[in-house]
Amino acid sequence: MKNYHTQPTSEEDQSLYAKRQKIYSRRSYGLFSNLKTLSGFFLLGIYYLLPWLLWDGRQAILFDLPARKFYLFGLVLWPQDLIYLAFLLIIAALTLFFFTTLAGRLWCGFACPQTIWTDVFIWMERLVEGDRTQQIKLDKAPLSGRKFLRKTTKHTLWLIFSLATGLVFVGYFTPIRELTLDVIKINLSGWETFWLFFYSFAVYGNAGWLREQVCIYMCPYARFQSAMFDKDTMIIAYDEKRGELRGARKRGENYQAKGLGECINCTLCVQVCPTGIDIRDGLQYQCISCSACIDACNSIMDKMGYPRQLVRYTTENMLEGKPTQVLRPRILVYASFMLAILIGIGQALSNRMLVQLDVIRDRNSLFQETEAGLIENVYTLKVMNMDNQPHTYEVSATGIEGLKIVSEVKITVEPGDMFEAPVRLIVAPNRLPRYSTKVKFTVTAIENPELTITEEARLVGPLVNNPSPQLGQ
Ligand code: SF4
Ligand code: SF4
Repeated sequence: MKNYHTQPTSEEDQSLYAKRQKIYSRRSYGLFSNLKTLSGFFLLGIYYLLPWLLWDGRQAILFDLPARKFYLFGLVLWPQDLIYLAFLLIIAALTLFFFTTLAGRLWCGFACPQTIWTDVFIWMERLVEGDRTQQIKLDKAPLSGRKFLRKTTKHTLWLIFSLATGLVFVGYFTPIRELTLDVIKINLSGWETFWLFFYSFAVYGNAGWLREQVCIYMCPYARFQSAMFDKDTMIIAYDEKRGELRGARKRGENYQAKGLGECINCTLCVQVCPTGIDIRDGLQYQCISCSACIDACNSIMDKMGYPRQLVRYTTENMLEGKPTQVLRPRILVYASFMLAILIGIGQALSNRMLVQLDVIRDRNSLFQETEAGLIENVYTLKVMNMDNQPHTYEVSATGIEGLKIVSEVKITVEPGDMFEAPVRLIVAPNRLPRYSTKVKFTVTAIENPELTITEEARLVGPLVNNPSPQLGQ
């Protein structure tokens, strides 16, 4: 039995907690760095500009939660349309799986908000503190006026950017123009204030402080994406056969004679890595496929006069000299699912009924008798206009001979709005076949009779010929 009171050996003494070592990544230059900058500009542009876009005089994209309406350009989605959003999320997930199987962590390296915002924060850091070497020097130096000023400037820039990002985020849920005015006047509601600061500090914390730790320890996708990898998935890898043995040499020197490969062991690929790994150690889950090491190594290969692509996009099969297959069963399965769901959504959206009707019976009384001896039932009709233009709807009721509506039968509803109208039905008691009879309300747009919907309700009244009430059809 193990004695827990003995002194731990040095091996047992090791802490499982590893303190984070700050990564000072060097800037990389080249094709992939340029592509990454372009992708960042494009995606950030979409994020920051989209809520400012107007469509038919209103915000083009607005998730109006209090009114329970989602505006997507010309489309107004109601809670009952959430199924479309659910399917859109499924398509987004399938697209991610598809591209991961095909091209590895393309999303992580070029499109993930964590990567893009971290890049912006690193850019601001370099702007204020300089490149890698200057940053290391500054952090090692004792606190001075210069150091204090630089650190304060950097955090101020980070905070301004984070607050702008938080404001835009809230602007997807509340009209952004009014929100901006409210921020200037310091007149925000409690919820707006909470979400503005919550999202701003999430960006500041994740992109400014946590950075690669989000990818390595917090992101679930980083953990399960390896399940989508196979030997034909595109990865970024170091060509060991070409590179080893690694070692320093002079330019133009016959390195083969010294038994060396093409890696000069300059460690530039490690210095540019935002997650601080060495790509030469093989495929690692910390690698976010940002391609910085490809650009860095290519620049060294150019300087040495060696062929490029010692570190490159490749597949495990290619590295082993085997052919790579692009069209594989799982790729085809993901693509077919995506296509099937896309076609389904397209069809469902094109056949979507642009008018909705809810009929609610008055709960205060089952029925009333009018002065003329007729039976009256009262209902509330909720008519939702899900179209982009206003409509005037005509209301009709059927189901019992002689059934009449005694309220206004025309209802005008603005686009994306709902109108509640009280409606009274009357009928002679001797026309009632049962105690509770099914009736149908139909609402039809006068300008476009194709916009029509029918909803069932019950009309209740006493039976003249058979006074014992019976429920039934
Ligand atoms: S190993 Fe290369 S591709 Fe992977 S994260 Fe580091 S720099 Fe980016
Ligand atoms: S950048 Fe290229 S040459 Fe330099 S250490 Fe990395 S793999 Fe070797």
